[in-house]
Amino acid sequence: MEPLTTDIAIIGAGVSGACIARQLSAYETDVTLLEKEVDVSFGVSKANSGIIHGGFHHSPRYLKTRLEIQGNLMFDRLQRELDFPFSRCGILVVAMNEEEMKYISHLYTQGVENGAIGIEMCSRERMFELEPKLDSDCVGGLHAPGGGVIEPYRFVFSLVESARKNGVKLMTGFNVTSAEWTGDKHRIHAVDGRVVEARWVVNAAGLQADTVSRIFGGEDFTVHPRKGEYYLLDRKTKVCPQRVLFPVPTRVSKGMLVIPTAEGTVLIGPTAVDIEDKEDLSTNEDQLSQILDQARKMVPGVSRTDIIAAFSGLRPALEDPDFYIDISGKAPNLIQVAGIQSPGLTASPAIGEYVKDLLKKAGCRLTEKADYDPYVTKMPRIRDYTPFEAEELLASNPAYGNLVCRCEKISEAEIVEAIRRGHTTLDGIKYFTRAQMGRCQGGFCSYKIIKLIMRETGLRYDRITKRGPGSEILTGSLEENPREVAHHA
Ligand SMILES: Cc1cc2nc3c(=O)[nH]c(=O)nc-3n(C[C@H](O)[C@H](O)[C@H](O)COP(=O)(O)OP(=O)(O)OC[C@H]3O[C@@H](n4cnc5c(N)ncnc54)[C@H](O)[C@@H]3O)c2cc1C
Repeated sequence: MEPLTTDIAIIGAGVSGACIARQLSAYETDVTLLEKEVDVSFGVSKANSGIIHGGFHHSPRYLKTRLEIQGNLMFDRLQRELDFPFSRCGILVVAMNEEEMKYISHLYTQGVENGAIGIEMCSRERMFELEPKLDSDCVGGLHAPGGGVIEPYRFVFSLVESARKNGVKLMTGFNVTSAEWTGDKHRIHAVDGRVVEARWVVNAAGLQADTVSRIFGGEDFTVHPRKGEYYLLDRKTKVCPQRVLFPVPTRVSKGMLVIPTAEGTVLIGPTAVDIEDKEDLSTNEDQLSQILDQARKMVPGVSRTDIIAAFSGLRPALEDPDFYIDISGKAPNLIQVAGIQSPGLTASPAIGEYVKDLLKKAGCRLTEKADYDPYVTKMPRIRDYTPFEAEELLASNPAYGNLVCRCEKISEAEIVEAIRRGHTTLDGIKYFTRAQMGRCQGGFCSYKIIKLIMRETGLRYDRITKRGPGSEILTGSLEENPREVAHHA
């Protein structure tokens, strides 16, 4: 097989790789994004709290703190360019006793030192003015008005779409297993036999960044997965706060939160438990009960009956709590982007800038493109329209009038658009449109979505997957049992 030749290969299409790819797409250089999964944002970036942090949780001595502050400030412009759900709703840290207020004072001083704009220490009265649903034991807290929430996967999808529009090549299903340095470039091999030759490599492989570093002869470090479990509450819950609510943090994590998501649902969690298996996304009743107890300490009305789903994500932690982003001292022309745990999502746009600067420092020539276009095509969403406004949209495309996902109000036209933009698995469509994310969790719409994928792609029913090969949804023979599709759905 002829190798594909590129200037810069980025390994990993999570939020780090996507931000780096988009940043580099503004320069006269050939960039290829290599991702082992069938779609982008299927790694750590798909399951997290979605918070744009306020810049007060971490010490100013860390690189991650500088990138968090800078990244946070970049989101307003990014939203205008990339059209993803984002709300600068603000963050509250809730103190339940005077001892915790001492820690609030520390967080405030740290935030000011970091350069977080607008943060304030709050009295009990001010806290209830900002969030009336708080438990009556709250004695005060911290308010960070610059914090917010985004939909993380939509952010990654838009970044990649923008990068591709500006010339970046995306190769999915490209699982990097070996590589050699030929004297002036890396020869990179995928499991399926494809080969890419690149002068520069960026290792943004999340939980696998340690393995990828070893493949390229880079530094020896270990990524330890730290699991965080969540409950998702129905959008009809009465306990949706106006701002993200944090407890006073613990030694290993920021604690369990109550998060009003960018799309109007509520998340509670996450836990923080060190585990061994980088694939283990199971959830556990004990952990989840703990989450419920912790959430109720801040907002007493949180109810079990509001819960519609449980899920977990894995933080790619290193021994050192900081990000490890640097030019490799061992392997030629390799940039390491590892240990990107929280606040990685917040910092990601700044990580893109930082890696671009490291590449320049390492000798990569980057000159700005004259015709760089930062905007993606906005996609109408029927639920944002009033019936009066919808008339024009329906006249242009009647498929906006056919609601496929009734819980989240997603139309056939939006699902077809997702498929045409390359998201052809059930999870890809879920993350792009939100179909299957509501109260019924896909119970009613999965079957209709499968039929739309079949119609749009020509794929047979038994080739439709949840998230790529090995996760096929329907099996058996349609010829033998024509009712099979309906039965399995
Ligand atoms: C529970 C939890 C809560 C969090 N909450 C927040 C928050 O609220 N705010 C915040 O700012 N941050 C948060 N984070 C952190 C944030 O989610 C991460 O920092 C970020 O998603 C990391 O992105 P990434 O691109 O580095 O990694 P990933 O998203 O994992 O991307 C790496 C990609 O590399 C691919 N890959 C791996 N190996 C190979 C290979 N051999 N070949 C090709 N591709 C490969 C993977 O498939 C993956 O898609 C949270 C994280 C967790 C787990």
